[in-house]
Amino acid sequence: MQGMMMNRPLSIISILEYAAEANGDAGITTLETHGEVTKQTYRETYARVGQLAHGLRAMGIEPGDRVATLAWNNRRHFELYYAISGIGAICHTINPRLSAEQMIYIVNHAEDKVIFVDATFLPILAALRDKLPKELRIVVMADHDHMPDTKLEVFCYEGLLDGQKSIYDWPDLDENTASGLCYTSGTTGNPKGALYSHRSSVLHAYMVGTVLGPALPKSEDGSINILPVVPLFHVNAWGLPYAAPIVGASLVMPGPGLDGESLWKLMEAENVNSSWGVPTVWMGLLAEIEKQGRKPKALADVVVGGSAAPRSMIKTFEEMGVNVNHAWGMTEMSPIGTHGVMPPSVNKLPLEEKLDYKQLQGRRCFGVDLKIVDEEGNRQPHDGKAIGELFVRGNAVVSGYFKNDEATEKAIDAEGWFGTGDVASIDENGFLTIQDRAKDLIKSGGEWISSIDLENAAMSHPGIANCAAIGVAHPKWDERPILVAVAAGDSKPSLDELRDHMEVHFAKWQLPDDVIWVDELPLTATGKVSKLTLRQQLGDYKHPEVA
Ligand code: ADP
Repeated sequence: MQGMMMNRPLSIISILEYAAEANGDAGITTLETHGEVTKQTYRETYARVGQLAHGLRAMGIEPGDRVATLAWNNRRHFELYYAISGIGAICHTINPRLSAEQMIYIVNHAEDKVIFVDATFLPILAALRDKLPKELRIVVMADHDHMPDTKLEVFCYEGLLDGQKSIYDWPDLDENTASGLCYTSGTTGNPKGALYSHRSSVLHAYMVGTVLGPALPKSEDGSINILPVVPLFHVNAWGLPYAAPIVGASLVMPGPGLDGESLWKLMEAENVNSSWGVPTVWMGLLAEIEKQGRKPKALADVVVGGSAAPRSMIKTFEEMGVNVNHAWGMTEMSPIGTHGVMPPSVNKLPLEEKLDYKQLQGRRCFGVDLKIVDEEGNRQPHDGKAIGELFVRGNAVVSGYFKNDEATEKAIDAEGWFGTGDVASIDENGFLTIQDRAKDLIKSGGEWISSIDLENAAMSHPGIANCAAIGVAHPKWDERPILVAVAAGDSKPSLDELRDHMEVHFAKWQLPDDVIWVDELPLTATGKVSKLTLRQQLGDYKHPEVA
């Protein structure tokens, strides 16, 4: 027997429509590209989104068309998320840090009709213009007073809205209609497109809202201000543009100001309670906090993910009264898979014991299923010991890649689960430990060493500001671990001192054989340490026993 309940299609625009009414005073603060700080409520934003939708239709954008963005986190980018999907078109966010070659590939692969671009990134487009489709139109995300000088033929964003009605008769879309497109950064091979739908985006927003909403710190009057450092140009800023309006949280958009000093100032001025980003961003903020002698006054929560949060970083934040929520996910998961909200049994532990849990990748969100399998695909127990490749399933997980059957076939297993490429263990209470990306695990004498574990141990030494552990070729052991490190001060610890410091956590054979000091580590387009680049840079490296 079927239940007798209505079946309303899930739609992204309904989120903003709801927020405009029920959370209408909350909204978006933006550090604009030209330096000014602007504020608009969700109510005002919804009206502007209506105007933008009319503007898009006036440009000839049809349902199903791909509309690209190349922009910082700001209010106009947020408006595009809603207006584009609201008319049934697809918001294709492009990461400006991709290589020229990758950008040309994805704009052509997505067949974008229009690209909305921040003034900052116009020179990138100008350099690529000849290799992009001739019909591609360019809209600069600025008002009339801040339009940049350019030889390109461009439209003005505010010009698109001028004179348009703020009420838009939003079409009733099938909830499985595609709404957004984001390409992985493609560290190997061409980028692959994750094609989100209204249904997946709304369910993901509920998921983020239910898990993280209640855990978010509030100001005295109950308002919540969240600063997403994680970009709207990649993995939907971890779902915040959709989840924040539902829970009534305001967003503080940092625009181009992503360095520690700019973030500290904006957090301080705008009473930011919670901020989300990758570990490298927090290193910048922590350096600024040290300089200022205190944290931004209202900051009480940091969500960190994208790569493993070092234990030492979590500890520093926790000691200054900032709760760290360590999450894991990926582009193909919309992107959140797990969260680091702790159960009461962990919360009451002393700090060092609590950190044993906080440094793990959290527990799965409701709606995300996890399994680990061995090399033959056999399921492994969730006992905290068995290690295997991590597969995921859920309503906000991709079922394949956009126009890429070959990659789809490789990614989805016979039971319909998606292979993450991560190697993990899961304990009886559901805590996930990402041991490594499969391609970053170091294989020495037939045994695996986790590069994440090595980095964690090395970074707990006060002389190390940042580091990466990678495997280098060795004639006898196949691979041996070495560290590439950035020193925290003038005096660099010796290799022996580092090995002594790390020894408590490892068997002797697992310790690194060498340390190479560098001024900075190369980053990927998503702000993570790029081990691929490091391996390439160290192409001529000879192991001390070989050299
Ligand atoms: P990109 O490689 O383009 O940055 P994603 O943002 O989709 O792609 O990255 C997803 C990958 O990032 C995961 O498969 C995992 O390897 C890594 N990752 C994400 N969060 C964490 C975390 N908290 N700890 C360790 N690794 C993480």
